[in-house]
Amino acid sequence: SSRNSLNFSGGPGALPESVLRQIQQAISEVPGTGLSILGISHRSDWFAAIVKELEERIRALLGLPASYHVLFLQGGATQQFAMVPMSLLREGSAPAEYLHTGYWSGKSLPEARRQRPIRVLWSGEDCGFRRLPEDEELRYSADAPYFHYISNETVEGLQFRRVLGRDDVPRICDMSSDFLSRPCEAERFSLIYAHAQKNIGPAGVTVVLIRDELLQGQREDMPSFLDYSVQARAHSIYNTPPVFAIYVVLLVARWLMDEIGGVANMERINRDKAALLYRALDESEGFYRGWAEKRDRSEMNVAFNLGSAALEKKFIAEALAAGFSGLAGHRAIGGIRASLYNAVTLQAVEELVGFMDEFRRKR
Ligand code: PMP
Repeated sequence: SSRNSLNFSGGPGALPESVLRQIQQAISEVPGTGLSILGISHRSDWFAAIVKELEERIRALLGLPASYHVLFLQGGATQQFAMVPMSLLREGSAPAEYLHTGYWSGKSLPEARRQRPIRVLWSGEDCGFRRLPEDEELRYSADAPYFHYISNETVEGLQFRRVLGRDDVPRICDMSSDFLSRPCEAERFSLIYAHAQKNIGPAGVTVVLIRDELLQGQREDMPSFLDYSVQARAHSIYNTPPVFAIYVVLLVARWLMDEIGGVANMERINRDKAALLYRALDESEGFYRGWAEKRDRSEMNVAFNLGSAALEKKFIAEALAAGFSGLAGHRAIGGIRASLYNAVTLQAVEELVGFMDEFRRKR
């Protein structure tokens, strides 16, 4: 197999082979335009049609009602960590509520605190971010301006299998590392954001789904570029957007709809991939030790350890020599992490499991 097909990187990650082939063609000439994708104006009719089609496909994939805006912004998920509290918190409002479930939600907290005091409903810091909270551990307030959490903690490999929060408080979710990997009950959220560089494309664009109602309560003195209403009115072409990244996200959305058959099918495939790899950990007699508690294991990011840091280093080196990329764990916790984003095939996971079994037998 090619290195691209054995790319287990946490992000930017693997893209489907058929999409990579279309990108190759588009670099020289986008079919029907005679122009390179790198030189097409964002003010062209062609690009307006691309944005429109992508928006429609995301709506169709998630069954998103018309009361939502679909935005393509820049600045990554990190910018959303700041843009959400800047837009929605004001003098005198009750504290927004946050979950601290891992490395990335930890990055969202100081950005919110810079605006107003917040309330952290639960933190996994004491248990080393090896598990997620149960409903009984969470005491939500009815007067919070919003509730923010991350559906999948990319570093630790922890994923919620339910929607959190209360229905009468705007629910805001960072779905960067599991967006479009499964159905997500989008209509239960006031705002969903996801950067592209995991399941849906290259870095440079962040998808934001925002309920129109939430725009009404927004602060009015935001810089225009950071103002969701301005971006919504401009249909994501307020200033020069990342044309290339948006085009690739469209190619991936077409692949997901037309070749995979939608997010429910994608979820079935992702579930099989994750089950295969977790089984390999569980049947290794402690040679490979999963990071997360079983109940909260992520189907996107499988984090695990070997007996020592030296053995992990050897594992990564031998894996690399055998053609597997991106297996080093995040610098925050080390170890190994295999990310099983949408474009990683079941066959790739079978090859990885084969390598892991062999590596173990040789010790
Ligand atoms: N949230 C999550 C869940 C992430 O995985 C990441 C990055 N991997 C971020 C936020 C930060 O994203 P960005 O680099 O696009 O700002």
